[in-house]
Amino acid sequence: MDFRRLETAELSGKTALVRVDFNVPRKDCGSISDDTRIQAALPTIKAIRAAGGKVVLLSHFGRPKGETKPELSLSFLLPVLEEHLGETIGFTDGFDPSAITENITLLENTRFQPGETKGDEALTKEWAKLGDVFVQDAFSVSHRDHVSSAGLAKFMPAYAGLATERELDHLAQALENPAKPVLGVVGGAKVSTKIDLLSNLVEKLDMLAIGGGMANTFLAAQGYPVGKSLCEHDLAETALEILKAADKAGCRILLPIDVVAATDFAANAPHRVCGLNDVAPHEMILDAGPETVNGLADAIDRAKTLIWNGPLGAFEIEPFDTSTIEAAQYAAKRVKNNDLIAVAGGGDTVAALKHAGAAQDFTFISTAGGAFLEWMEGKELPGVEILRPKKGEA
Ligand code: AMP
Repeated sequence: MDFRRLETAELSGKTALVRVDFNVPRKDCGSISDDTRIQAALPTIKAIRAAGGKVVLLSHFGRPKGETKPELSLSFLLPVLEEHLGETIGFTDGFDPSAITENITLLENTRFQPGETKGDEALTKEWAKLGDVFVQDAFSVSHRDHVSSAGLAKFMPAYAGLATERELDHLAQALENPAKPVLGVVGGAKVSTKIDLLSNLVEKLDMLAIGGGMANTFLAAQGYPVGKSLCEHDLAETALEILKAADKAGCRILLPIDVVAATDFAANAPHRVCGLNDVAPHEMILDAGPETVNGLADAIDRAKTLIWNGPLGAFEIEPFDTSTIEAAQYAAKRVKNNDLIAVAGGGDTVAALKHAGAAQDFTFISTAGGAFLEWMEGKELPGVEILRPKKGEA
């Protein structure tokens, strides 16, 4: 994918407004319990400083909904950033450019401003006064048309930061110009949240495995009994349309061919492996069966690229995590042998692959959640569109 990279930006003597994602988890409003997002932002900040530029960092934190809420102030990050970056970090509300005296300044929680999430023009102009170039390094908010995620590009040149660059390059590798055949694995709870995603994927992929609770909707639509399984019976028509579209586009669909049926949604609930016609009215399907996993392993063997979203069963409760673990570990093994490119992301996927012990071996795991899903749905992301070179630009 063609987009403006940070290495092409003129940064010496300039101030870069850098959108980062500092929406970090905190323990009881205290210490940071996972600093992955801070670590992810550091390379871009350091690169801009090394190129002789100043940095103004913009991020949201929590959901203040346009109000100043002291408990959601970003000031708790100042000592953390100073430790990582070895410089004094300034702090500003963003309305007085002369207050920016340090080489690196952190702007207060962008969502304290009601105009931020509305893409407000006056606020955009105000913040644009603080810098010369805009660097989008928070792919996780690129599906939002907010001032700090896309709007600032109206008034200055915009570039992808290094974290965004890494994300976009890997996503392109999985869906835009992938090594073929491409296999998708889509699991999770409901079809209703993933109709756009499935409809887009059947047009683009060679094979698509559907698992998790959403597979029950497809099985029920095909006339199989699903007992008291999680199932959206009202979406039977939609499920059949997706199957028809896949057939037309030449995308092979893999649905479960056997299942694990249990009596309750609980860890170690009484359960059994059974065929699709054998699920009793008092049972619920909580995982794919071993024959299904074998079939998926065959598809993984054939694929050169894998894109994965969602667990194949109720992975939070044992033993209904089995198919997710086995399929993820099988894919991870092929990645390690350099036989497969595997990209995953969205919702519970990161937790499921970590649970399977496979996350570290995947080629790339996106932690972007909603933005990753919208990208899989084939939608234009405002925070990515602004990075595309204009006509005539090299
Ligand atoms: P999603 O957020 O759509 O990716 O859905 C993830 C959730 O789907 C997880 O909490 C899983 O426990 C749940 N899930 C997956 N398979 C099933 C199933 N067969 N029955 C009930 N819940 C399931």
